[in-house]
Amino acid sequence: MKKYMAVWGALFFCVICLSLYLMLETLNTSPARYNDIDAESVLNFEKKIDGIEEDIKRNQEIINQIKSAVKDVSKGDEESLGKLQNILNSQNQKLQANKDQLDKLQNADTGKKTTRLKEQHGANVVQMEQPKGQKTAGAPLRKEVSVADNMCSWTESPMKKPDIEMEQVMKQLPFDNPDGGAWKQGWKVEYVANHWNAGNKLNVFVVPHSHNDPGWVKTYDRYYEDQTRHIFNNMLSKLEQYPNLKFMYAEISFFHIWWNEINEDRRKRVKKLIDAGRLEIITGGWVMNDEANTHYFAMLDQLLEGHQWLDGTLGVKPTAGWAIDPFGHTPTMAYLLRRSGLNNMLIQRVHYAVKKYLAKNRNLEFMWRQTWDHDGNTDMFCHMMPFYSYDVPHTCGPEPAVCCQFDFRRLPGSSYSCPWKIPPQAISDANVAQRANMIIDQWKKKATLYRSNSLFAPLGDDFRYDKEDEWDLQYINYQKLFEYINSHPELGVQAQFGTLSDYFNSIYKEFDTKPGQKPDPIKTLTGDFYTYADKDDHYWSGYFTSRPFQKNLDRVMESHLRAAEILFSLATATARRKGHLNLPQTVFMDKMIQARRNLGLFQHHDGITGTAKDFVVVDYGNRLLKSLQDTKLIIKECATYLTLDTKTEYSFSENAPWFNVDETRVAHDLLPEKSVIQLGEETDGTPRYTIFTHLQDYLIRREAIHTANRKLMVLTKFPFVSEILSREGHSRSRPVMFYNSFAQSREQVVKIYVSCADVIVKNQQGVSVLSQVEPYWDEENTISKTKFKVSFRLTVPALGIVRYTVQRVAANSNSMNVPVSVLIFNSDNSATLQSHPFSIAKAMGSDITLENPYLKATFAGSNGLLKSVVTKENGVEHSTKLEFVTYGTKPHSGDRSGAYLFLPDGPARPYTSQSPPVVNIIQGPIVSEVHVYFELVTHVVRLYNSSGIDGISLDMQNIVDITTQRNVEIAVRIHTDVQNKDNEFYTDLNGFQMQKHTTYDKLTVQGNVYPMPTMAFIEDDKHRFSILSANSLGFSNLKPGMMDVFLDRRLNQDDSRGLGQGVTDSKQTPSRFKLLLENRHKGTYNKDRATNFASLLGHQTSLQLIHPVFVIPAHNKHSSSFPRQSDFSPMHSELPCDVHLLNLRTMQNKDDGPDRLVPKSTAAMFFHRLGIDCGFPNKGLMCKGASGEVVLSGMFNEILTNVAQQVSLTLMYEEQELDTTELLDLEPMEIASFVVTLQ
Ligand SMILES: [Zn+2]
Repeated sequence: MKKYMAVWGALFFCVICLSLYLMLETLNTSPARYNDIDAESVLNFEKKIDGIEEDIKRNQEIINQIKSAVKDVSKGDEESLGKLQNILNSQNQKLQANKDQLDKLQNADTGKKTTRLKEQHGANVVQMEQPKGQKTAGAPLRKEVSVADNMCSWTESPMKKPDIEMEQVMKQLPFDNPDGGAWKQGWKVEYVANHWNAGNKLNVFVVPHSHNDPGWVKTYDRYYEDQTRHIFNNMLSKLEQYPNLKFMYAEISFFHIWWNEINEDRRKRVKKLIDAGRLEIITGGWVMNDEANTHYFAMLDQLLEGHQWLDGTLGVKPTAGWAIDPFGHTPTMAYLLRRSGLNNMLIQRVHYAVKKYLAKNRNLEFMWRQTWDHDGNTDMFCHMMPFYSYDVPHTCGPEPAVCCQFDFRRLPGSSYSCPWKIPPQAISDANVAQRANMIIDQWKKKATLYRSNSLFAPLGDDFRYDKEDEWDLQYINYQKLFEYINSHPELGVQAQFGTLSDYFNSIYKEFDTKPGQKPDPIKTLTGDFYTYADKDDHYWSGYFTSRPFQKNLDRVMESHLRAAEILFSLATATARRKGHLNLPQTVFMDKMIQARRNLGLFQHHDGITGTAKDFVVVDYGNRLLKSLQDTKLIIKECATYLTLDTKTEYSFSENAPWFNVDETRVAHDLLPEKSVIQLGEETDGTPRYTIFTHLQDYLIRREAIHTANRKLMVLTKFPFVSEILSREGHSRSRPVMFYNSFAQSREQVVKIYVSCADVIVKNQQGVSVLSQVEPYWDEENTISKTKFKVSFRLTVPALGIVRYTVQRVAANSNSMNVPVSVLIFNSDNSATLQSHPFSIAKAMGSDITLENPYLKATFAGSNGLLKSVVTKENGVEHSTKLEFVTYGTKPHSGDRSGAYLFLPDGPARPYTSQSPPVVNIIQGPIVSEVHVYFELVTHVVRLYNSSGIDGISLDMQNIVDITTQRNVEIAVRIHTDVQNKDNEFYTDLNGFQMQKHTTYDKLTVQGNVYPMPTMAFIEDDKHRFSILSANSLGFSNLKPGMMDVFLDRRLNQDDSRGLGQGVTDSKQTPSRFKLLLENRHKGTYNKDRATNFASLLGHQTSLQLIHPVFVIPAHNKHSSSFPRQSDFSPMHSELPCDVHLLNLRTMQNKDDGPDRLVPKSTAAMFFHRLGIDCGFPNKGLMCKGASGEVVLSGMFNEILTNVAQQVSLTLMYEEQELDTTELLDLEPMEIASFVVTLQ
């Protein structure tokens, strides 16, 4: 060490001397330039010397001499030149003496540290050469993590077999669509005349309701102003006016606005109606969420937001779920409602053939069970409505022409009418007997489809009951019918107004069952209800992909909200513990609540589905953007606070923040712009790094080195030189924080954007790390001179924040920052071929191979698209041919593709551009990339050289732009060699669980498209190919081995489902995927099991894709020095690999209270124990085992979780108080929720 220091000091000295010497040489030989360079150069020298001064005290005196001489020179003192010369001459001798030392170091150096392209002769295959001789290069994968035996035996053991498996139903059904007559999609329903009689009555509940979309053909606010407010006002007055009347309502996003508007007296009256059971709040979510595209985090979040509001404000706990309009239904919803403490639920939009099948067997009511449930404890009593729609014509019975006559809003003279041309008649003494018999006939027919003597007859539609007279018309006419029917027992019917719970309770009573338990004759069912068709081959599979830009924005917003929730909870707990008041908690809480609600709003079944009018999409977009910005602010501010050594130094300033957001979005529908960290001053033509240049020149002159890349060589040989140079003080080092929102540590590659190519990246300990600098293309052929990408590997602890610094250094002076090499295929443009510091070359040829320690991926040189992947662990090459395909729209008359429907004009066609696309191959030691520029798609595939799990999959990103097209749908298609038997494949439901599907010819192409919120996979006995997606999109597996993911759709007409427009507001739309190829352990394949699970690696890769490490760069405005910060590592014991911390959500005070924005000291903590297929290796993970075990009290280092209560999912019911020191053994697949006090 001593020796090293000596060399170091000497070298410092030499550097200064040489520089000055050579500068003087310049001055002497070209006096004409003297005036050009003197002032600034001298100033620069002075600065450098100032910086070095601190480090080399031993040479202080000489430096002083030099400084003094330099000053004199700058004043034009000729004599001082001689003085300087003398000093330098004497030091030059010392330099000679040190040369031996330099040579020794040179010889000791091993191997090259750069990665460069090597063009192989003959085959013309370009390979990424692995850097050798340094531990950073190979990035060996982390070793395998063991999954607990109890998990593996759980996933392998057979599930409890249900009575009905939807997968089997789909297999059996012919989907032949015969004409059923009056009930078009059913049959001629008959019943035994005396089945219901005075002693055995049919108990009919006529249930008034109003379906309020928080945004569709009007915005959320407009709907409230125009209709919903009036509905609520009328509801209060009319329910008070008519004591027999009842009403039910679902969407809290509207209800809470009204509640905040009305006075205390009216609030009391509303509560009275609720307490009396005359007004029922059903589901109680913020919205009636879409079930196909939504992620369970957001589904739960909007349910929590609604339930928390209801419970806190009204003391109401909903017991029945109500989903009449979402376009298809997921068992995940049944699970969430069940675990929230609801007893029953209702669903409506299910494929007409499925409805008919279930109706035939009187199985429209069933216990909905999760496919992974071993003992039936997830069973949820579900009522499926039998007919085409939830409006009155399709709810009283099977014949719409008859039922329509009992919608008294459609009486002649009204703006509504019956399309079947038979209008309703007002009920009078003269017609009541005849009219009663008509509706009883419908009720009894409908009742034959169910197993009980209770009948549910909804009486409502979209935005109904907004006019007072509708309340009067429906009430007065139905009341007359009821009075007549109930006074004639021989009719065998008891009829009254009711609510959904009245109906369910009647069934429970009839079967002598406790609410929430299985009524005896009811069967169990597993599976999902996708893909929905309302008639013919009109499959609603378009909306799985419609408005993909917003589907992406939604998921970005979700990951930010979750990250902000967790960090905010940790920051407020810390502030509370320390008694700090400088964290603006109420400001952040306000933004947090808005963010929860804006995200919740978008989960609506016309929000995330992409089925609202253009201007409504804009409204949602602006709300999401606002909250995205707010959550970014909360993340960066809480991260700043938590990393400060002296937390009292923190102050919240929106104008002069220390840190910046990672990216900004100018508008809700534009792609984000990455924040660029400004390093030092921009190049102004002045040679700034002359010390280095002169040292290099000196070494070259002395023939110390012979190489084409001399600059790099110098620094490669003498890495400490870059250390010296980085201390020159020329460029301020800028901090960047990285936040990991997982409760497990992770290692991965991150990317930051900086203003110059020559940088040094250091970790918290000041150790420089290997980085890679990449060019940023302003346009296809222009490399930016002010924006560069720098990638490096890092490790972030569980829920932790690490602080790195990045600093500008002399050109090529940091050997640890490696410029990438670029090969350009199919380009005529040579403008960019020379661009410092990158090696850019043109190439022609066939295949391109990128390689890391785990994978070798081959791409076609002709178009840059993936061809095959070799998994190096077994050396097997897998075909993975990738292409883009397009669909057109069915040309003939009738309904055509639109926001909801996918009605293609035939099989997909390969998409080819007019000329071969420009392909850029970018290679470096951290990540290598293939960029392909098609007219409609910019396609990027990345291969990371990482020890983390990002090294095991290929990363695919696309930006699709179909704004110039007409009626086109574009998909990415991968032809794999996976032999998935019987065309079986899996897609996820809501990111929560996997669902098996089979592709059938009987369903047409559009009927074989399924939602893919996060992942899809196909497998055979040897391997599994998974596509993991950053946001929800449509997926199909039309042929064995083939995987299609829909990326965007532009449709120029309405599809007749009420929207009244096409989908033509296309944007430049991003999509991102991980392609994961896993080799199965021998003997672990079981094709016939009822369900399936992702591997641990599959889960973690998906989670990393959805929840990236958050980048928090220094703010460029902030110029003063940064306060002292340390890495933040809050978890004492991180969670096992198989437990996902779903949220840590600070509880809010009552919505309407004065302290509503003061965060509570309690937070809701949610753990999801993942279900895992143990048949695959799980390399690359940093987490500790997969045991499902958690101890709350020991989770955090400083924050205490002393008090905890196990609660229902939406916190409405307290289950048990916990001993926080006790080991919690979480059940596979279950979400466990706790309210914890954070101190
Ligand atoms: Zn709706």
